[in-house]
Amino acid sequence: MASCVVTGAGGFIGGHLVADLVGQGVEVRAVDAKPLDRWYQTAAGVESLTLDLTARDACREAVKGADQVFNLAADMGGIGFIEGNKALCMLSVLINTHLLMAARDEGVSRYFYASSACVYAAGKQDRPDIDALRESDAYPAMPEDGYGWEKLFSERMCRHFHEDFGLETRVARYHNIYGPHGTYEGGREKAPAAICRKVAAAVLSGDHAIEVWGDGQQTRSFTYIDDCVSGTRIITDSDVVEPLNLGSDEMVTIDQLVDVVEEIAGVRLRRTYVMDAPQGVRGRSSDNSLIRERLGWAPSTSLAEGLEATYAWVFDKMQAGRSSDERSVGVDPSRSAAASTP
Ligand code: NAD
Repeated sequence: MASCVVTGAGGFIGGHLVADLVGQGVEVRAVDAKPLDRWYQTAAGVESLTLDLTARDACREAVKGADQVFNLAADMGGIGFIEGNKALCMLSVLINTHLLMAARDEGVSRYFYASSACVYAAGKQDRPDIDALRESDAYPAMPEDGYGWEKLFSERMCRHFHEDFGLETRVARYHNIYGPHGTYEGGREKAPAAICRKVAAAVLSGDHAIEVWGDGQQTRSFTYIDDCVSGTRIITDSDVVEPLNLGSDEMVTIDQLVDVVEEIAGVRLRRTYVMDAPQGVRGRSSDNSLIRERLGWAPSTSLAEGLEATYAWVFDKMQAGRSSDERSVGVDPSRSAAASTP
């Protein structure tokens, strides 16, 4: 009998959460729609299932016999993906709805839902120097179209399953999670991974230029994956039913984000600003008063520290990809630009 089920386990945050739970001796069933060979991480001793959780029967199979469910499965990505795929994002409502029903019917004792800072009302995020977002800023509701509406609706579904059926639901609003083993290419990547990839590409190619989406003055805060995993577990184990921010309050402009990655990589790049690229809200950061007050906790990894680990991982992946491309076309890797990079 699995004591914990993690959905979206083949993805970025789910993969880290499974590793953390297993490291602490928890019995885990990991579930994702992707075939196992495409999961970002797999852990030994875990029951791993490939199931499409939009289907009700699949949700029942996923949670059978489980004590806790962490729902991290969603069809999502960075701003480039969510602005162009609103219907796909909203279809994730089927995952959370069917999982909640299955959790209720199978007697699951606790249910965690991964919500997002995209639930916050657009009008509170229209300047770079905005006030950090408090949980109450989600209402009156005007979230990110598509993805944000689905998250807000699913949060409320959790709340009503708690009120009406007694299921212990917990909800975190994640703010821009980043770190190793995340999506860094392909169109679903978010800003920190995309910037790490672009800087690494510039280093590897020797073409010291970078494209930045927007004017670089939009602000965000970025949360390191280790903080996300510990915060998720702390919120799940707590008695706080209402949604809590899980986000860093170290707000930076996108230009400052690029500065930090350049510093880590030891390069300075010529910047081109792409004004017609998707940009999302103008300013966003997390107000952590409520999570501090209720749980005595908030994320603590600095952006520089987190990006150091993330850049190293992205750089290695790209260098390895380059070496295998070169091997396949017969290039001597010792003579390539990659060989002279830090
Ligand atoms: P991810 O895309 O890396 O992982 C999500 C996983 O869900 C993927 O592996 C995907 O295959 C799986 N999935 C999608 N549809 C499925 C289905 N029908 N059945 C089963 N699995 C399915 O994303 P992530 O960054 O790890 O995000 C995890 C959760 O956290 C998501 O709910 C996301 O919306 C939320 N979140 C993430 C961030 C962030 O910055 N990464 C911010 C806010 C909220």
